[in-house]
Amino acid sequence: MINGHTQLTGLLGSPVSHSISPLMHNEAFRLLDLNYVYLCFDVGTKGLKTAIDGLKTLGARGFNCTMPDKNLMCELADRLSPATKLTGAVNTVVNDNGILTGHNTDGIGYIRSLADSGFSVTGKRMVLLGAGGAATAIAAQASLDGLKELSIFSRKSKFWDRAVHLADTLNSQTACHVSLYELSDVSSLRSRLAESDILTNATPVGMAPDTNHCLITDPSMLHPSLMVSDIIYNPRETLLLKTAKEAGCKTCNGLYMLLYQGAEAFKIWTGKDMPVKEIKKLYFQ
Ligand code: NAP
Repeated sequence: MINGHTQLTGLLGSPVSHSISPLMHNEAFRLLDLNYVYLCFDVGTKGLKTAIDGLKTLGARGFNCTMPDKNLMCELADRLSPATKLTGAVNTVVNDNGILTGHNTDGIGYIRSLADSGFSVTGKRMVLLGAGGAATAIAAQASLDGLKELSIFSRKSKFWDRAVHLADTLNSQTACHVSLYELSDVSSLRSRLAESDILTNATPVGMAPDTNHCLITDPSMLHPSLMVSDIIYNPRETLLLKTAKEAGCKTCNGLYMLLYQGAEAFKIWTGKDMPVKEIKKLYFQ
């Protein structure tokens, strides 16, 4: 029941109408009998500052940011969480009496989704494909959570300079040893994979509608003790995951990363644990 005490949360970005977040959060509020509502606002970077000032004035409890607003939001927040300082991208904001604190729950969501599959990054070696927004969040959180070695493979294009900076920052501010390689360096990719515990695809390669693509073109690069994870959730099984299964690897798709990044935001706003079991059954099968 919406009344005079209802607290406002929501999503800013463009586009946003396809998002599953309103279903997930509003159902979780209902299940826990919390007087909150979650709405979507189609706002790109051009209108972001005005929208943020408006939400602050209205006393909104908090909001998520998605593309293309994540980086600019980092500049507009009053305070930043440690992962956000490393990534330069915010996907969750909480408003405490007019002070906006920016968080990035994508990385935490990813780590929690791996935990569901019985995998912990602590002390492990990871090969990460991509250096965009999601890859950066995963790299930062995994390094903060005790990953031993991270090998990032990226095309030498728009995210390259940012990836060089990220690798330097993680090497100087965490105990993780981070190296950056060009994606076209197939022999390094092969040798890093041979020594790694987990391969993470954080590029859109393999996502619908282009489902016939995969960055691992030779399945012999994969070994059965490698966990292969793809943060894509449409389709549920990408060509990478199919190839990995055939090579005897354990696999994990991006569906629960989506769920858990939302659950972390929910906790930040309400102080309560999202009833993830029920939400999983309803929207994440
Ligand atoms: P992004 O910021 O645009 O980064 C994309 C990365 O992939 C960049 O490093 C880009 O490199 C690389 N890339 C793109 N096309 C490539 C190709 N053909 N070959 C090699 N590298 C390529 O996007 P993002 O927000 O990180 O999202 C990446 C993927 O993760 C998307 O599919 C998105 O849906 C998914 N995602 C899932 C979740 C979840 O909760 N499961 C959360 C966030 C994102 P260049 O610089 O060379 O283009």
